[in-house]
Amino acid sequence: MHEPTGSARTPTHCPYCSLQCGMDLVREGQGAPSVEARAFPTSRGGLCRKGWTAADLLAHPQRLTTPLMREHRGSPLRPVAWAAALDRVAGELAACAARHGRDANGVFGGGGLTNEKAYALGKFARVALRTASIDYNGRFCMASAATAGQLAFGLDRGLPFPLEDIARAEAVLLVGSNLAETMPPAVVHLDDQQVAGGKLIVVDPRATPTARRADLHLQAVPGTDLALALGMLHIAVREGLVDHDFVAERTSGFERAAQRAGAYWPDRVERICGVDVEVMRHAVHILAGARTAMVLTARGPEQSRQGTDTVLGFINLALALGKAGRPGSGYGCLTGQGNGQGGREHGQKADQLPGYRRIDDPAARAHVAGVWGVDPDSLPGPGASAWEMLAAMGREGGVRTLLVLGSNPVVSAPQAGLVEENLAELDFLAVCDPFVSETAALADVVLPVTQWAEEDGTMTNLEGRVIRRRAALAPPDGVRSDLEVLGRVAVRLGCPPEWFPTDPEAVFDELRRASAGGRADYAGISYARLEGDGAFWPCPHPDGPDTPRLFLDRFATEDGRARLHAVSHRPHAEPTTGAFPLWLTTGRVSGHYQSGTQTRRVAALDALEPEAFVELHPVLARRHRLADGDDVLLTTRRGTARARARLTPDIRLDTVFMPFHWGGEGRANLLTNPVLDPRSRMPEFKLCAVRIAPGSPHSDEELPA
Ligand code: SF4
Repeated sequence: MHEPTGSARTPTHCPYCSLQCGMDLVREGQGAPSVEARAFPTSRGGLCRKGWTAADLLAHPQRLTTPLMREHRGSPLRPVAWAAALDRVAGELAACAARHGRDANGVFGGGGLTNEKAYALGKFARVALRTASIDYNGRFCMASAATAGQLAFGLDRGLPFPLEDIARAEAVLLVGSNLAETMPPAVVHLDDQQVAGGKLIVVDPRATPTARRADLHLQAVPGTDLALALGMLHIAVREGLVDHDFVAERTSGFERAAQRAGAYWPDRVERICGVDVEVMRHAVHILAGARTAMVLTARGPEQSRQGTDTVLGFINLALALGKAGRPGSGYGCLTGQGNGQGGREHGQKADQLPGYRRIDDPAARAHVAGVWGVDPDSLPGPGASAWEMLAAMGREGGVRTLLVLGSNPVVSAPQAGLVEENLAELDFLAVCDPFVSETAALADVVLPVTQWAEEDGTMTNLEGRVIRRRAALAPPDGVRSDLEVLGRVAVRLGCPPEWFPTDPEAVFDELRRASAGGRADYAGISYARLEGDGAFWPCPHPDGPDTPRLFLDRFATEDGRARLHAVSHRPHAEPTTGAFPLWLTTGRVSGHYQSGTQTRRVAALDALEPEAFVELHPVLARRHRLADGDDVLLTTRRGTARARARLTPDIRLDTVFMPFHWGGEGRANLLTNPVLDPRSRMPEFKLCAVRIAPGSPHSDEELPA
């Protein structure tokens, strides 16, 4: 099916997470392609099992190679010619705009799309559809840390330093990240740090493989991370550990933040978090005593209705201790999706234009409209965030059509049952995907698109490092790139073809111009410059340096100072009750990525983790007459899911954990709570109240002792 395009060994990067490990795609003669690990700074020649098996999807038997279309709701999806499929998409979008107004056309993108696609999708929405209704699944991943980074530092770049700098930190506080399972090759940096004598502190409700390697594990109650951060700041202030010189020279807002933390006495925080006061004190003293220290957060504290404030709480702690803006020190967010960073910079967010510009900023609108050759007044304003768009779609005032690229919201959105219902209410749904995902299965038109190894493009990894992905293989006959799809539909909607180039390098060059002068400035980064290990933004000049380390001299705020924010912990949005007595927290496993559309189709990964499971403590299992491997029904106020019991003493007695990679009855997101963080619009994936029950009866002999 695939024809080689030149070299049999093509240097590229893993198609999955934000580590973007280096790999070569290798093709021996006409044999199936395979991958070999390649030296790269984030992964040092390592790959996880997802990376090793990434080539298995390229010639997968379930690969779509022709568009599918259904005549009307209830009729089956049938193969159809590209022209007919694109005509249908363009016709439905135009008809919807005519009937209901332009904002009734919705666009939903993804954090795995290349920078070129993310940029083109944002432009397609604003220029071809002229709709405000565009957002993406990154709103479900990194939005809280991104918002907090902008508030505190004036800029959001996940890590403001290369990952390798972790080795230079004498102490690392890792909050809500299970790096050892989600990004195993990155553990080499923690190894270096610990071998050099550095201390690792992990905050996590589970004793994960990452937590087990820590010098100190703070096993906080889910949803209480902000109280913990406030308690730690309280201890730092009370015990004279604040770096007052740094606070005076490089920050603002300390007094108010410290005053607010004054209400979080350690014994009060212990009652909220379940973390012993002495353990908290020990953690603060380790951080304060280290000459260099990092505070890194991930989805644990971020996927919460107080995610932004929680991240701000940990940034406050880092700033108060003087552990930011210096080599070997700083706050960082461990971004999840492959292009989670670049995907949030170039315009597929509801409130954003390329270069991390705000869409409500007149100067930003004028600049981008100039690059696009349109009237600034023709650009729509901010639209609804991802969950708000999905929750209202098909209903009064919501979007009536949806075009989905690089996302599978039927599995990955919160309250997924409602999302599925709403998709059925749309007038029209089109999905671009290499496979028939759970969302594509509901579509009126499915467009088969290229995969990572079949197209050129750039990604921006968790460090803000822009890297090249190269086309190593020609795509199968019948498959087109997302850029071609957007271009062809745009032309059918009346745009000149030159507005939507389909060559990735041409799109990137336009992106560079659109980002010039913005916060995420790519103007100086060309494809040629990305030979080797990539370039860090901002990089405004082709002949000037890139920026591996931010904030060494000043932060990106107007006055150059980092801002501490006065934040307060709020009780759980959905408290446990007699009917729902346990906490449910959700997350990932090492063998799968996101909604599993890709990894569930890889035989080796499916064999390893074939079905949904729920982790629970053996004592809790006994109380519920559950044995290891039993069917478990989990019920929240939004729905019921079914999963296999996996007993482990590594989890709190009051908490169960369910990964979110499966569809059908095993969907963790049938259960999750869509209550939003008011600033980042991040749903509260990480926490809701749940009850569990056996899905099938068994005898007492089978129960754990
Ligand atoms: Fe590396 Fe992430 Fe790919 Fe695993 S999934 S090989 S950690 S980029």
